[in-house]
Amino acid sequence: MPYLIIAGLALFLLVTYAGCGKPKTPNTASPPEPKPAPAVERVAAPAKVAPKPSDPEALTETPKKKVPRNACCYKMSAPPTTFDYLCPRCGERTLYALPPNASEKERAAVVDATFVLNVQLEGCRRALAAIRDLPVELDESQFCRKCSPAVEKPELVLVVRRPGAAGPHRVAGVTVEDLRLLNEYLSGKPTHTVEHDYETPMARQAQRLEELLGLKPSLSEETK
Ligand SMILES: [Zn+2]
Repeated sequence: MPYLIIAGLALFLLVTYAGCGKPKTPNTASPPEPKPAPAVERVAAPAKVAPKPSDPEALTETPKKKVPRNACCYKMSAPPTTFDYLCPRCGERTLYALPPNASEKERAAVVDATFVLNVQLEGCRRALAAIRDLPVELDESQFCRKCSPAVEKPELVLVVRRPGAAGPHRVAGVTVEDLRLLNEYLSGKPTHTVEHDYETPMARQAQRLEELLGLKPSLSEETK
């Protein structure tokens, strides 16, 4: 009998041990398995939807343009629309500025006049001073309100006093390039220098030279 009791006890222990070998519940002592990332993190960002016309933001939000660096370096800035002109003839000052409620006509007149005064005047004075072979003057009086009170659209005027001519020849609206061209022609240069130092035959400027001189220019073969 004791033998049977021992055998029964051994069987009981064997069954109990085998049952504990595979626990039905997860072993809390083992390291936890990595949890899957929350689904929200894997969701792609919602696509941007254009605001509806009824959306108040659509009315106030302006599209943002990407401005390249150093953009100012590529853009020509407009000359100022003010100029304090001192008349070399009478000594009076004429102030050019846009009035607060300027009409289109007044605005255009001020913009045109200040463009000439800011961009052309000094260059024309220097280019004229360089002309030695012909008696020429630069008449600026249209820009003086005292000398020319009735002039609405002032221009720079070239006055050419050719020896033997009946009277002075006047050309309105001359530019720095006109006066350089005239000097090149009078100096006997066969070409006219234009932008970027590009040379063109003087003969191509015959029409403008005739306007500036008041007579047909005498152009030799080498200028054609
Ligand atoms: Zn004056």
